[in-house]
Amino acid sequence: MAISETERLKAWVRAGGRCEFCGRYLLEGKLTYKDFTLGELAHIVGRDVAPKSPRGMDPLPKPQRDLADNLMLLCRGEHNEIDRKGSLNIMTVERLRSIKRDREEWIRRMTALSPQNGTVVIRLIGRVRGAEVELTKPTAAEAVIRSEARFPEFPLSLHGDGFEIDLRNVLGEETAGPAYWEQCRQQIDQVIELRLADALREDSVQHVSAFGFARLPLLVYFGSRLNDTFAVTTYQRHRSTEAWNWPDAQGPGRPFVTETHGSVSRDAEEGVLILNVSGSIQAEELPDELAELPRWVIRPQGIVPAVDVIDSRATLDEFVNAIRQLLSDLEAQHKGIQRLHVLAAAPLSAAVELGRVHESHVHPTLAIYDRTDGRYTSVLEVS
Ligand SMILES: [Zn+2]
Repeated sequence: MAISETERLKAWVRAGGRCEFCGRYLLEGKLTYKDFTLGELAHIVGRDVAPKSPRGMDPLPKPQRDLADNLMLLCRGEHNEIDRKGSLNIMTVERLRSIKRDREEWIRRMTALSPQNGTVVIRLIGRVRGAEVELTKPTAAEAVIRSEARFPEFPLSLHGDGFEIDLRNVLGEETAGPAYWEQCRQQIDQVIELRLADALREDSVQHVSAFGFARLPLLVYFGSRLNDTFAVTTYQRHRSTEAWNWPDAQGPGRPFVTETHGSVSRDAEEGVLILNVSGSIQAEELPDELAELPRWVIRPQGIVPAVDVIDSRATLDEFVNAIRQLLSDLEAQHKGIQRLHVLAAAPLSAAVELGRVHESHVHPTLAIYDRTDGRYTSVLEVS
């Protein structure tokens, strides 16, 4: 039995007309640029149930072997190589299937993108206690494409790097004194106030993808500066996978609970908000001057706080709901509270979202604390 025209067409379309190993475009010559059909369809499980057919002894029934699901579009060279005796124990059925699956899923996502469905990527890149992560333009673009079918845009600069707020050149991150916070704050303001405002005036921004890696107070501040005239998707680097993309949606998010500690008197003007999401801040760790204030604690329901608790966009939404609910409760029931001291053990995406939820004209001022040398100090305000 030979490969039917239908299965041949399927295999070519799923591969996007490119070699599934090297990505070479297979309908055009590399030297002459003439139209040629250069690709070959390689069997993953060999065509025949026979030891001399490469990977042919796999249990896959013979009639299924000539279907697109068992075929990879390859250059002649790669086709030849995967079928050589010496490569059979490396290029196994399992491995080839996984390469094919990843590649075809990627092609399908890429071809679904349209410039009308664009998103402007903003990257805030700093250090956290000396550590840096990779947050390049390709890294961000890939996360956007994998997480939602949007076309990543990096406008408004000579190199097309888009909005990049680079805090890595600000000195003093490890000791994090007042000068450090002030300088970082100014750099964030500069990009947001000058460049993003310009872009908004030209009406070219409808959706923003926000990426941030920096000390937590800076991310809250960053979030507070992203106004709500456009929709925002916030990204974080997931510790378990080291990837920035959100995994595909899988059911509802994990809920959060809010606990109230201490009584809130009618004339209370200040309170404490503790976010125990990726870790747990104990009451004993609070600075003395906060110990007597009414306190609210937000934490995931039913599980111990841990890194990667926010493992989906649905869970991030649940966190945002919990914050929003608390802020509106305060507004309705404790109007006197004008200042909330915020101590957070939270993933970076949660920090950005906290800043975004805050509305300066209705909510209390947020004093954001940073922990250095085991002590919490108030370092930035969102008002
Ligand atoms: Zn190739």
